[in-house]
Amino acid sequence: MTYTKLKLGSTIGIIGGGQLGKMMAQSAQARGFKVAVLDPDDTCPARYVSHHFIHAPYNDAQALLELGQLSDVITYEFENISGEELKNITSQFNVPQGADTVVTLQNRLAEKTALKEAGAAVVPFVSVTNEAELKGAADILGFPFMLKTTFGGYDGKGQIVIESEADFKEADELLAIRPCVAEKRINLKSEISITATAAPDGKVVFFPVQENEHRNQILYKTTVTGEHPHQSQAIEEVKKIMQAIYFVGTFTVEFFIDQDDTLYVNEIAPRPHNSGHYSIEACDYSQFDTHILAVAGWQLPEQITLLKPAVMFNLLGQDLNTMEDIFSDHADWHVHVYGKEVRKENRKMGHVTILDLNNDYEAIYKERM
Ligand code: ADP
Ligand code: MG
Repeated sequence: MTYTKLKLGSTIGIIGGGQLGKMMAQSAQARGFKVAVLDPDDTCPARYVSHHFIHAPYNDAQALLELGQLSDVITYEFENISGEELKNITSQFNVPQGADTVVTLQNRLAEKTALKEAGAAVVPFVSVTNEAELKGAADILGFPFMLKTTFGGYDGKGQIVIESEADFKEADELLAIRPCVAEKRINLKSEISITATAAPDGKVVFFPVQENEHRNQILYKTTVTGEHPHQSQAIEEVKKIMQAIYFVGTFTVEFFIDQDDTLYVNEIAPRPHNSGHYSIEACDYSQFDTHILAVAGWQLPEQITLLKPAVMFNLLGQDLNTMEDIFSDHADWHVHVYGKEVRKENRKMGHVTILDLNNDYEAIYKERM
């Protein structure tokens, strides 16, 4: 595949101006690139770190055309963009990530099917479109199982646990936007993820395995020691996945580990990921740096080095309320606030990274809750 090696002063176009777009833009600017951002929210976090801002819906064909004309390369910060529009700009502009990967990964059923075909250790699943198939799913998977919408879920939205037949009623709402994916519920010991970056020339670098703790299905805490026992197995799984799905740039694979230490692939995000934010301070390259290097057609480093073990906590709206008045007293807390105008419960407003696993953040947090 041919690709363009960007010159200094070239413009990187980013579809989406949330926190991921903002942190991508900051890495791009550090390397001497300009940034153009397209977002429907004219107060979005990336707006204030970009040279050009296009205020439009993500799927606005005209606005995407404008982004293409302004940019030397186009990337995206999230996967729920219109596959059709992405295909359209891919045929006209330099979009090294292409459109096919997003189209596969934005559909949970297509994603899991691709993972299964790749021979990856995906959680057992079946497709469900009606109540009869829901019963069939229960026979195959056993109770409890998860029912998830195929499109648009994030932070646990669009999914329910089916404990018994009594819960079938609750499935109606999800099945109305069928098909859904029914999936075995794993008795979790832990959750991990691994972030990787692929260059257009095929080179891949891996970040260390991240251990993730969720609360209310939203990432609460990521811990990275650099010595996770599942590191090599996780890398093997990613390599299998890469045989089947084409990647350029940074992506993250999420895994479940059950009580018997069996590793399962959960899902893939074809973009920088919340669980990789610690890399900004804890690694010699952040997940945003390597993403920018890859889409710019620049060399990736030989490897990523973890400089220090790290822990990252998300700052949701309520966490910011609890903690913001003491950030100034804790120089060792690397505080990132994304700059979203509206502070809401469970909305990701920022994060804190601490390069010390025995930090006092959690104790203080609990005390103040
Ligand atoms: P999202 O797109 O919202 O991130 P996920 O499928 O990753 O959706 O689910 C969010 C969280 O819900 C997971 O990180 C995990 O904590 C829990 N979860 C989802 N599916 C399962 C499952 N099959 N077994 C156990 N826990 C699950
Ligand atoms: Mg997830």
